Amino acid sequence: MPRLAFKTLGCRLNQAETAQMTASFEARGFTLVPHGDPCDVCVIHGCAVTRLAERQSLREVRAAKRLPGHPFVVLAGCPAEMKDHAGLQDAGADLVVGQAGKARLAERVSHALGLDVPGEIREPRLPHFEGHRAWLKVQDGCDFRCAYCIVPDLRGPPVSRPMTEILREAEGLIEAGFPELVLTGANLGLWQESGKTLPHLIERLAGLPGLGRIRLSSIEVSTVEREVIVCMAECPKVCAFLHLPLQSGDDRILAAMGRRYTAAQYRAIVEQAVARIPRLGLGTDVITGFPGEDDAAFAATLALLEALPFSNIHPFPFSPRPGTRAAALPGAVPVAVRKARVAALLALKSRHRAAFAQSFVGQEVEVLIEGKKGDSCAIGWTREYLEARVDGAPPPKSLVRIRVTGLFNRSGLLGRREEEATHRS
Ligand code: SF4
Repeated sequence: MPRLAFKTLGCRLNQAETAQMTASFEARGFTLVPHGDPCDVCVIHGCAVTRLAERQSLREVRAAKRLPGHPFVVLAGCPAEMKDHAGLQDAGADLVVGQAGKARLAERVSHALGLDVPGEIREPRLPHFEGHRAWLKVQDGCDFRCAYCIVPDLRGPPVSRPMTEILREAEGLIEAGFPELVLTGANLGLWQESGKTLPHLIERLAGLPGLGRIRLSSIEVSTVEREVIVCMAECPKVCAFLHLPLQSGDDRILAAMGRRYTAAQYRAIVEQAVARIPRLGLGTDVITGFPGEDDAAFAATLALLEALPFSNIHPFPFSPRPGTRAAALPGAVPVAVRKARVAALLALKSRHRAAFAQSFVGQEVEVLIEGKKGDSCAIGWTREYLEARVDGAPPPKSLVRIRVTGLFNRSGLLGRREEEATHRS
């Protein structure tokens, strides 16, 4: 049987698509092996959201060409969509496919290698996930055109997967023993079908028998975030974790970024979410040193983040992406300043996260077990997206309730089980 290896870079959407492609290869008789092992086909599922990610994708292609057995190397995804193809040819991939080519990649590779399977191939019903959580792709593409972002050029305009297809896949994943489904898309809040929007889809998914819980990946403020908050507050199957990318807390910078909200509007939404959803975990992304971000603008961002109870802050130093409007903006901020601002936000994150974790001591939480640490401790994640260590060894993919007895590393929860596993594959 031909051996297949995948190396996936970038976002959760790429992870979800890798799982779909893997299943399609398996339907044609390929066996998945760990990346780095000898293989016949190696797919680099690349990322081009930053120049760095694009370069790393090409490095992975070159490394794959040197793997034992000299596999057939495919570069798939966003790097192939870049207009500026410098380096793409030189990297030496045997096949380069963009977004549209992913759906029939297994078929094209089989054909190129003379491995066509006689008879009709039944496309797989389910994506193949290696770990304990499953990403459910509900949408692709974005047309918001934020000044710094290349995604609309790489993934095209928004396209929603049909609800029936999503529900069918979710049922299969539940049946296969995945207790948590993570809804993902390039701009998740843009999912829609016949006038129905994301909250309706979440309600339908939450009603599926056997589902443990649903987690949402990030939602853009200015889409359906208010309706999603109501839905989260009313539906116990939806994890109490909301990731709302902020990017800046200064209105001048938000306008230059092309974001569709002001700092005050953003703050009002977060306050509504915190008021409605008990013990909410809150995450955000922030870009530091966007062109024109002076000390006052950064101070506004810091003050907003100080004022709101974020448990997770992902700060990124601005990196000009060729092909975006922001790459040509005046007012560049020195790289050292961008990095210093990232460090300030990481320090804030660490304080907020520790305080959030501390608030759970003595409380009961639900943990999805993902692995073991030694013989007598299991590790997993709570609904609020805190890491937890659990006494005893409940099996992977089980959902257990624990009483939090203390913390490790300031923001991890230590706990003992309150009851038997509620869900197990
Ligand atoms: S909302 Fe903005 S940042 Fe997010 S994918 Fe669309 S253009 Fe990029």
